[in-house]
Amino acid sequence: MRSAAFSTEANDANESSAVLERAAMLALQYRQSLGARPQLAATYAQMIDVFREATPETGTPGGDVIDDLAHMADAGLQAMAGPRFFGWVIGGSHPVGVAADWLTSAWGQNCGNHHGMPAAAAVEEVAAGWLLDLLDLPRSASVGFVTGATVANVVGLAAARSEVLRRVGWNAETDGLFGAPPIDVVIGEDAHSTIFSALQYLGLGRDRVIRVASDEVGRMRPESFQQAVAGSDRPLIAIAQAGQINTGSFDPFSVIVPQVRARHGWLHIDGAFGLWARACPELRRLTHGLDEADSWATDGHKWLQLPYDSGFAIVRHPHAHKTAMSTLASYLPSAEEGERDPSHLVPELSRRARGFAAWAVIRALGREGIAAMVARHCSIARRMADVLAAEPRITIVNTVELNQFIVRFGIEQGDEASDMLTAHVIEQVQADRICFVGGARWRERWVMRISVISFATTERDADASAQAIIAAWRTIEQREGLA
Ligand SMILES: *Cc1c(COP(=O)(O)O)cnc(C)c1O
Repeated sequence: MRSAAFSTEANDANESSAVLERAAMLALQYRQSLGARPQLAATYAQMIDVFREATPETGTPGGDVIDDLAHMADAGLQAMAGPRFFGWVIGGSHPVGVAADWLTSAWGQNCGNHHGMPAAAAVEEVAAGWLLDLLDLPRSASVGFVTGATVANVVGLAAARSEVLRRVGWNAETDGLFGAPPIDVVIGEDAHSTIFSALQYLGLGRDRVIRVASDEVGRMRPESFQQAVAGSDRPLIAIAQAGQINTGSFDPFSVIVPQVRARHGWLHIDGAFGLWARACPELRRLTHGLDEADSWATDGHKWLQLPYDSGFAIVRHPHAHKTAMSTLASYLPSAEEGERDPSHLVPELSRRARGFAAWAVIRALGREGIAAMVARHCSIARRMADVLAAEPRITIVNTVELNQFIVRFGIEQGDEASDMLTAHVIEQVQADRICFVGGARWRERWVMRISVISFATTERDADASAQAIIAAWRTIEQREGLA
């Protein structure tokens, strides 16, 4: 009979070391398989079948649990950290970050306050300074370590909401929003879906917004922005974007900033991945004016290659940031002047000490390494786009300015036929399992999306993947009698 886990016997130091060693070895095997690993084959339904069993009544030895977990999950693990994954916007989980993350788990620090967990809090403070330096944002801004850009957007917009209301004499923290002066929320038509989630969570309303028309690559049109903010003196929150999810485009910040200032408003920028263009000298021009905003959201687990989950909420006005997020309780030590308490800048009290992985990866890559990586991804994206565009009947929809591009197949046959063909090519690429790409709707039409954002992707992977896409397209054209 198996002994119950974590009985005195299982707590034995040897067994606990064995479990950790076993996990490290399995993790290593997985990482080593990534280069050759085909993209996903198993379905959700199959994985439910693998995992579903009755609630365990008795325990199982830890080593067996870890073996079972690795074995059972394997077929359903998407090779997202591998070199030929171009779906959504997915960073590569850099090994140094993963290693620091293992230590983070092993150390078991609750990153709630700076007195109780001094190393975790100090590393966050230092990594926060490095981030501001790399992204060239105001060095006095405050940085909250959150799960991703979604929550970073919530934090930035929570600070915005409180501050624009405070300017008209309303305290949103204590009195809420019922009866508060209405706020104008101005947002581009091609903003990311999670911005609307943030507005939903904050009581600002997903639909209660003023939408600004955008151009063919998703940038807010300057004249439309001007119209949207003209003729009102209500409290204003404007939300702009650095890096549109399909095209990688940037809003015209230098046009937006003075108009928001003129209304004493707050400008928040969603730069989940695009903010990192600022860390790269060749691409900085794309972000012109962006540093004049009041708050920024970005991800650690996208371009910085941190393991999940990691994002940063950056706010120019630390007081507004803290006021919107602070938890007050007698048993929590308060921060002295000059001290940074991690929990004062994020919604959570207890949470993972995310600073360790951020510190480790920034230290491993350095400013030069980060700049080179960002530049390389953009040049790989252009290279893939060029290979695809050289084929007849394959169209790259956007100019490839960053790392994201979208593709359509057979536009000569009309919109509907091209939608169908594009969807079929995406399915075929996924079925061939050499690389992974997804699809999306863009301007009412179906497109293939390609995001080059993993440190693991080489030029060879990009070439093999472009060829795999072309091969899939030829298969579909032949099958549908179009070639
Ligand atoms: C990915 C992304 C988000 C959401 O970030 P999460 O890390 O998934 O929370 C928001 N905005 C943009 C532009 C993104 O690319």
